[in-house]
Amino acid sequence: MDTIAKRILVVEDEPTMADVVSRYLRRDGHEVRTIADGHAALAAFRDFQPDLLVLDLMLPGIDGLEVCRQVRAAGATPVIMLTARGDVVDRLVGFGVGADDYVTKPFSPRELAARVQAVLRRAAPQPAAEAEGAALTFGALTIDPGAREVTLNGRPALLTAREFDLLLFLASQPRQVFSRDRLLARVWDENTEAEPATVTVHIRRIRTKLEADPSRPRYLKTVWGVGYKFEP
Ligand code: CA
Repeated sequence: MDTIAKRILVVEDEPTMADVVSRYLRRDGHEVRTIADGHAALAAFRDFQPDLLVLDLMLPGIDGLEVCRQVRAAGATPVIMLTARGDVVDRLVGFGVGADDYVTKPFSPRELAARVQAVLRRAAPQPAAEAEGAALTFGALTIDPGAREVTLNGRPALLTAREFDLLLFLASQPRQVFSRDRLLARVWDENTEAEPATVTVHIRRIRTKLEADPSRPRYLKTVWGVGYKFEP
């Protein structure tokens, strides 16, 4: 498959793991910088300006959750979290830090490299020829699939790639209700380890960005016991 060569920041304090991961990513043509602690990761995020972060959860200094939160606060740079098996993913979801994907240790480096490609592909602007249809407008809200931009009252809303895909998917089929499992299958990768609660977190984050009153959403409605729908 085609690869998209980008700058990737690998934040991982286990040297062997960092080495294997960066070797695989370099083999795909990426420029990789490896960092072993949270403070240095934030500094590297600012001066290396990566296109994507592979971020271990447990780090010396600042942990991966806090690094992810600060990266999110700065923009839409995709983040793939490395987690240990157990309650950690629940905790991640609970914190709603907005990682784009999770990979549970132990994982195959090949699988991680594939996830990186998938996330980068989603984050990349669509070439004009492949751009999907015209912009969708619902009152004050405009979703432009070609430019991958969302504007609210004429002002851009900063959505992550996944938040954008989720919003676009729902808005393209207004009033249709989708379960969280269905949304995971359609908007996330087929083999994602993300759990249904991840969808909830993303919906909440989109509402915070788009809804005047996120607790009483105008666009992204909860259908209790079933899932979510977009109200045009
Ligand atoms: Ca670690």
